[in-house]
Amino acid sequence: MDFIPERALVITPHPDDAEVWAGGTIARWVRGGAEVHCVLCTDGGKGSDDPELDSAALAAARSREQLAAAAILGITDVVMLGRPDGELEDTSDFRKALVRQIRLVKPDVVLTTEPYRRNMQWHRDHRIAGQVALDAVFPYARDHLHFGELFTNEGIEPHKTAAIMFWGSENPNTFVDIAPDFDTKMDAVMAHATQTRQRSRADVQAFIRRRAEEAAAAGNSYPEEAVSGLTLAEAFRRVTFRT
Ligand SMILES: [Zn+2]
Repeated sequence: MDFIPERALVITPHPDDAEVWAGGTIARWVRGGAEVHCVLCTDGGKGSDDPELDSAALAAARSREQLAAAAILGITDVVMLGRPDGELEDTSDFRKALVRQIRLVKPDVVLTTEPYRRNMQWHRDHRIAGQVALDAVFPYARDHLHFGELFTNEGIEPHKTAAIMFWGSENPNTFVDIAPDFDTKMDAVMAHATQTRQRSRADVQAFIRRRAEEAAAAGNSYPEEAVSGLTLAEAFRRVTFRT
């Protein structure tokens, strides 16, 4: 898919999810002139097996890593909601926080995590974040009577997002060529040092590359996809909305 949005909003449950699953696409869009914003839902304070690290120290390190990764990808800004890792809930309050960012950024496309998987395990925060992001895009951010106080109190207007792209889907229908941006993606993934845990770049790259090759193979054999000859790709389930 050759589409470059004018503005995109990335909604990521944890630090590093967006880089691992969609870092090449983000880099490609930024290189093509897109303005990409990011919302980080949790503080990532549980993502370590290092017994020396407590949650607060880990969260502080991970927020620094997230900012470094965002700078590498060319992301304009990262809004950190700071919710505790592993404790996302599908609440009106969380939905409103995402609606606020969607209405502020006014993206053409929201890039986020697939909530629905049948056959592969998925982190609870991914299920919740993906589902609340979907609901926030449609219909909550669109309809002015939902969270109308955002307009009456702060002048933040409703926004219709044209599409949402889910990473981590079992049923992708959209494939983005990331071969020219693969090294940038790797730089962004490696910025999350607490997650790569002393593994060498070559080890991490082998894993990331294999996944990109699998996505490329799926894209090359996907019947409705115009792009062929993919070598490294990222795969998404794209859902479009009437604007
Ligand atoms: Zn995650």
